[in-house]
Amino acid sequence: MMTISYEYEGSLYVNLTNKCDCACVFCLRHNGHKGSIYADDLWLEHEPTRQEALDDLLARDMSQYRELVFCGFGEPMFRWDDDAWLIDELKERGVKLPPVRINTNGHANRILGRDVTPELKGRVDIVSISLNGADEAEYTAVTQPSTGALGWTDMLDFTKKAAQYVPSVVMTIVNKDKTEADIENCRILAESLGAKLRVREYIPD
Ligand code: SF4
Repeated sequence: MMTISYEYEGSLYVNLTNKCDCACVFCLRHNGHKGSIYADDLWLEHEPTRQEALDDLLARDMSQYRELVFCGFGEPMFRWDDDAWLIDELKERGVKLPPVRINTNGHANRILGRDVTPELKGRVDIVSISLNGADEAEYTAVTQPSTGALGWTDMLDFTKKAAQYVPSVVMTIVNKDKTEADIENCRILAESLGAKLRVREYIPD
């Protein structure tokens, strides 16, 4: 059984990929997990085609969801071309979408080899980027990007660019072992890039 989309707290989450260029220490993809707190069996045996994903979403009643969220068990921007296609197809078919959010590590421009942020315009209402640390050292220690320190600067650059095209850009951190000063530094950093900081409470595994 493959979970392409699932409901969580009134929103519809779309899961198209297991791929990621990071290896976050807290990631549920390690440790043999195949599900998450959100749904069981999120590990995709094969990546759904865009048509399979479209059929799945067309079977949903979009009017009942608070948001349509592209996240997944991996980094959703690996499949941005398909995400964008899906959003366009649904709209062309007259489906009225709730606000569209992407939860991302902010590495899309490096992954896809082009600046994709202008393509977010009119398609995505909220981009939520994992900040995960107040500086490069903390960030790379926690997220372990395959590109090393470039992962940090890529993520900051993506945030700044996305803020030019997307109405709401949010950077998130998990409140674990953080001082008030750490959080304040993250807030200053996020705001300097045109984003808002959202502090998420830590949920032990
Ligand atoms: S960026 Fe997300 S999917 Fe990738 S390793 Fe980190 S937590 Fe997991």
